[in-house]
Amino acid sequence: MNTTKRTKACTKCGSEKPVADFHKSSSAKDGLQWHCKACIKLANKQYSKTAEGKETAHRKRYGCSSDEPRYIRVYRMYNPDTLESYIGQSIRRLSVRRSEHLKDAFTRDHESLLHNALRKTTREEAASLWKIEELCRCTSKAAADSIEALLIGCEKVAKSGLCLNTHHALR
Ligand SMILES: [Zn+2]
Repeated sequence: MNTTKRTKACTKCGSEKPVADFHKSSSAKDGLQWHCKACIKLANKQYSKTAEGKETAHRKRYGCSSDEPRYIRVYRMYNPDTLESYIGQSIRRLSVRRSEHLKDAFTRDHESLLHNALRKTTREEAASLWKIEELCRCTSKAAADSIEALLIGCEKVAKSGLCLNTHHALR
C-alpha cells in the first residue's frame, strides 16, 4: 500500500476520507476498497431491508428459505480433545448456534457446565477447539424434546462426568 497517501476519495459519495475509513481489498491496486466504510454500511443496511436481503439473512440464520418448514435440530457441541459434550436443540443453523454459545460464555455472567468448560481456554482457542454436529432433525418440538432427553441419557451413560447437560438428569 502507498503509505505516503493518507486519504482517498470514495467513488460512491465522493468524499475525500482518511485511508482508515476504507476496508482493505486484496484485489485493489492501493489495497483498499472503492467505497468508504460508511457507504458500504449504508448499502448493506438498505440491502437488508429488501426482500432478497431478508431472504439471505433468513437463510444464513436458519439454513433454509423462509417458505420452507423450520426444522428443530438436536445437536452435540463437543471438545474432541477432552470429550466433553453438550446436547441441545435449535431452530437456527448450527454454526450460528455454536457462535451464540461462545458469545454467551465469554460475554454473559451465566453459570453453566458448558460455559464453564468453554471458558477453560481463551475465546479464540475455544472457537477453534469446540465443534458442533447435528444428531437429528425434527419437525415437532415434542419429538425434539424426547429425542434430546434420550440422547442426553445415552451421553450420560457413555461419558458420565464429561456430559455437560445439567437437566434431564439420569436417576
Ligand atoms: Zn463513501
